[in-house]
Amino acid sequence: MKKNYTDTINKNVTDIQHSLPSGVLLVAAAKTRLPDEVKTAIHAGIKVIGYNYVQEAEKMHQFIDNDVQWHLIGHLQRNKVKKAIKLFDMIETIDSLELAETVNNQCALIGKVMPVLIEINSGKESNKTGVLPENVLSLIKQIHELPYLHIQGLMTMGPRFGNPEGARPYFKVTKSLFDEVKKAGIPHVEMKFLSMGMSNSYQIAIEEGANIVRIGTILFGSRCAQ
Ligand SMILES: *Cc1c(COP(=O)(O)O)cnc(C)c1O
Repeated sequence: MKKNYTDTINKNVTDIQHSLPSGVLLVAAAKTRLPDEVKTAIHAGIKVIGYNYVQEAEKMHQFIDNDVQWHLIGHLQRNKVKKAIKLFDMIETIDSLELAETVNNQCALIGKVMPVLIEINSGKESNKTGVLPENVLSLIKQIHELPYLHIQGLMTMGPRFGNPEGARPYFKVTKSLFDEVKKAGIPHVEMKFLSMGMSNSYQIAIEEGANIVRIGTILFGSRCAQ
């Protein structure tokens, strides 16, 4: 049984890495996975693991002593910021002035400059987190001078579709925002990462300019109901 999933994860990591153009970073979306599964993925070559929840990442930290990067890819509640900034090397989900300020202030206390991405609600879905496309530039202009935040790009989930082609327009919207922010040349803002695409849509995301893809299902297998 154990050998079985080890082989599967090894093969999946190799296959996915081979399918990525150079310069595209693979984030293993590790929610609900067991420590052994995550360790196997790391042994197979995964360099960045993504967690949706601070608590889950915190638990996993005690099992993982490898030199990997940790990205927060889920919504960050302000009361979790203090923990989050110690656990994560990048927060991909900044989406408000208040959250940006809280992260900045907590990072100031420990002297850590936090790389962040701005999360875009590209589908303008009322039940989703992320900043609306029309508000991105003004948000960045409000937060770019916070000294302990380093804005490095944009992230989006986009609406879920059975057919991955459905996601393409939302990736396009996010890429054009990315270009717009880059062109604006805002001081201290380094637009170098565009994080979009998941298991069923990552190839389309890459075609539309993504250079970070966040992949769970096709790497670890489908998630069991918890
Ligand atoms: C779960 C998750 C992913 C990966 O989704 P899969 O379809 O399992 O590849 C990517 N990004 C975020 C924010 C996630 O929560």
